[in-house]
Amino acid sequence: MDGSPRTFSLAVEDGVRIEVVFGEQLSTQVVAPDPEIVTLAGEAVIDSSIFAALDEAGIPARFSVDLAQMLGGTVDFRREMAGGETLRLLWREARVGEDRIGQPELAFAALEIGGSLYEIVWPDDGSGKATIYVDGEVLRVFAQPVEGARLSSVFGRRTHPVFGNVRMHTGVDFAAARGTPVQATAPGRVNFIGWRGGYGRVVEILHGSDTMTRYAHLSAVPEDLAQGQRVAAGDVIGRVGATGTATGPNLHYEVLVDGRPTDPLSDDRLAEAAESDADDTAALSRLAEARALLNENLGSEIAKTTTERL
Ligand SMILES: [Zn+2]
Repeated sequence: MDGSPRTFSLAVEDGVRIEVVFGEQLSTQVVAPDPEIVTLAGEAVIDSSIFAALDEAGIPARFSVDLAQMLGGTVDFRREMAGGETLRLLWREARVGEDRIGQPELAFAALEIGGSLYEIVWPDDGSGKATIYVDGEVLRVFAQPVEGARLSSVFGRRTHPVFGNVRMHTGVDFAAARGTPVQATAPGRVNFIGWRGGYGRVVEILHGSDTMTRYAHLSAVPEDLAQGQRVAAGDVIGRVGATGTATGPNLHYEVLVDGRPTDPLSDDRLAEAAESDADDTAALSRLAEARALLNENLGSEIAKTTTERL
């Protein structure tokens, strides 16, 4: 009323606001949101690519990376998909009002290809232990590259720890003691073993025709690991080290889809890497639960998501 400011509110990110009150004394506070977790379901028909199908259906397109990585070693999308396949997804989002907070997380995926039903369940216990099923049977448990390691750097733009300038970080880093085993995250074929500049000693594994995982800064690679060799998820393919440009021992882990680095997984799932033990009874009950939840949600709520940051 008198021309001086009274309050000021700045929305920063993920629903967080900074509020300033111009009283006798200036006071500021950070107001954190209390998000509501919603479960959403959606269907997409695949014609050209999973990415395009999700985008068209209004489902977060970043899920295509999770799906490509999970199924890359099992399904050769280009050869086995005829087009017209239906993909059903269930996922969780944190919301404050209408706004989505953080990244959505996949909970369940079902896709029929060439007469086989592929299903994936991502648990919400933070274990990072996803399970793939084929025709209702457990096929494999998705492994983490370093078990129980601390996630020390995420995917995206960051100030480079060695060079000091802002660069794109093309993978995620796990800090772990030198010599800690590094595991293949999905089944595939060893594509490269050797040295690549700043990456140091590297192992690269090809999963299907378009997805590759890269494990860098390794201190050692098993003597009997050879180029062209098939590996299963969880097989040890190297040891954590600091070769190349690294400030200390860590695994730099990359997922490349069609040669382009993509965010391997959401930070939360990677942050809480856990041991994988295949307990089929528990796994089958998780599948039944996920199927029921998908059906329930497909009937009631169709996904309406607009913005997507890849
Ligand atoms: Zn890195």
